[in-house]
Amino acid sequence: MTDVTRLVIFGRQGAGKGTQCDRIIDHFGVIHLSTGDMFRVAVAAETELGKQVEPIMQSGGLVPDEMTIGIVRERLSQPDVESKGFVLDGFPRTPGQAEALVEMLGDARLTAVINLDVPLDEVTARMKARGREDDTDEGIAKRLALYDSETVPTINWFAERGMVVNVDGLGTEDEVAERIFAAIESSD
Ligand code: ADP
Repeated sequence: MTDVTRLVIFGRQGAGKGTQCDRIIDHFGVIHLSTGDMFRVAVAAETELGKQVEPIMQSGGLVPDEMTIGIVRERLSQPDVESKGFVLDGFPRTPGQAEALVEMLGDARLTAVINLDVPLDEVTARMKARGREDDTDEGIAKRLALYDSETVPTINWFAERGMVVNVDGLGTEDEVAERIFAAIESSD
């Protein structure tokens, strides 16, 4: 029997991760788990967590691992996620989060770790064009720098364990989606 599909997708901000996550969800029927969305919901609802993370998000910094791991752990243990599988978007973003993820999954192994590869100048242009509230020049620069200092080592952490599939993120949405589906199906 085939196990449920459990995915992690990496890609610089502006790499088209959000769009491709929607395609993955339609195709595989998995649940989208975006830590950015979870934090934005907490900020909008003005919860205790939301009040703590709001200034961090505004400045383009990373929310501390304990808080981020906590929010993911809670969501991963819910029955819909356990039965349908998931695509994690924006998590893990540090090697500490990666270790925590593998530990919390235990025997429920990841199906694939996708690295959506788009050159830096292309993502910078795309981010400037989309104009989200935390997409100030300073915020963009800080998030891109954090991607290199924290998330690239996280991708390497998975790569060292032979778990990463690199997917070329340049091309039409359909072309990129087809590459991702093929990568997931061959990792199954
Ligand atoms: P982007 O892909 O543009 O960075 P996200 O929606 O993934 O946007 O995240 C928005 C913000 O939420 C991040 O800049 C960061 O402050 C916080 N955040 C999201 N995921 C994480 C994470 N795994 N670890 C730490 N902070 C996070």
